Amino acid sequence: MNDDEPTSQITECGSFDVLRDDLAHPYVNGNKLRKLDAVWPALLAGPARHVVTCGGAQSAHLVAVAALAAGTRGALASHLLVRGEAPAAPTGHALYMRLLGGNVRYVPRREYAARGAMLAAYAAALCAPPDGPRPDQIAVLPEGGAMPGALLGSARLVRWLAGELGAAPRDLVLDCGTGATAAGLALGVALLGLPWRVVGVEVGGPPGEAARTATGLLNEAVAEYDLNPGVPDAAQAALRWVPRGHPRRFGRTLPGDGAAVRAVAAATGVVLDPIWTLAAWEAAAARAAAATVGPAPRQLMLHTGGGLALCGAAQRWPEQY
Ligand SMILES: *Cc1c(COP(=O)(O)O)cnc(C)c1O
Repeated sequence: MNDDEPTSQITECGSFDVLRDDLAHPYVNGNKLRKLDAVWPALLAGPARHVVTCGGAQSAHLVAVAALAAGTRGALASHLLVRGEAPAAPTGHALYMRLLGGNVRYVPRREYAARGAMLAAYAAALCAPPDGPRPDQIAVLPEGGAMPGALLGSARLVRWLAGELGAAPRDLVLDCGTGATAAGLALGVALLGLPWRVVGVEVGGPPGEAARTATGLLNEAVAEYDLNPGVPDAAQAALRWVPRGHPRRFGRTLPGDGAAVRAVAAATGVVLDPIWTLAAWEAAAARAAAATVGPAPRQLMLHTGGGLALCGAAQRWPEQY
C-alpha cells in the first residue's frame, strides 16, 4: 500500500504455522491487500480519478477496491460491476461494497460473461458526458485483481517472510481462486532462490484453471518487469497445485463446515470460513500430519482473510451456522 515493508503476524497453531494476514485490514482482506500492494500506489501516482472493476456478489476484491478508494477521500471513485442480480438483503461483501461508497451496478450474467467488453463499455459511458472524465482518468482493474502487477505484492511478502523465518525449507499453503497470489509468492521464492514451495489449494475454479492463469501472469510479469528469463521456470518449480480436501462447487458449504470452523476457533482462536480459508487450513494440517517421517518442510498457512464472503452462503444454508 505504501513504502512501508508489509508486516503481519506469524502464529504457531500446533503442527503448523499461520500467517495472520486476515488481521491486516478490516475491509481489505489479506490477499487482496497483497495483490494491490504495488498496483494501488501506481494508480494513485497516475491521472486516474475513477477505478472500474468487476466480480461476484461476495467478491473481496470489490470491497478492497471500494475501501481503498474511500481512503483517498474523493480523489478516486470506485465503480463495481457485480455479476448477477442484486440480493434481496445485501450482506457480507455485497453490503460492505455499498457502505464503503462504491458505485455498485449489478450486471446480468450473459452480459457479464464478456468481461472485457463490459468493462470497456462502462468506462466509455463514464467518459461520454461533456463534463465526464477523460479516458486516461479511468483505471480498469481485472476481476480479482489478477494482473501482472499484482504479483509484486506477494513477492514482497515472501521477502518479509524470509527475514522472519530464515531460509529453511518451507511450504506456503494457501487457498486459490485465480492463482495470482500463489504466482506472486512463487515469483518471490524464485527471485530470492529460497528452498520453499508454494502449495496452492484449488478452491475458486475447475482443476487446472489457477495453474493456467498463474503461468500466464508469471510470463507477463517477467516480460513487463524485464526479469531474468529463468525466473518463470524457477517459479513453476516452486508451485504445487492440490485439490481441496472436501470438494464442492465454489461458494457452497457442506454439512460439517460450521462444526469444523467452530472447532478450529475453539482450539486456536483463529476464525476460518468454509468458502476459502478452511480449505487451506485443512491442507496445511493434512500435510503437517503426513510429514512425520524424516525432515519435512514446516507448513505455513497463509490466512488470506475474507471471511465476510460466507455471509451470503450462511443465509442460504442457515442450518449449518
Ligand atoms: C480472492 C481470494 C482468494 C483467491 O485469490 P487468488 O489470488 O485469485 O488466487 C483466496 N482467498 C480469499 C479469502 C480471497 O478473498
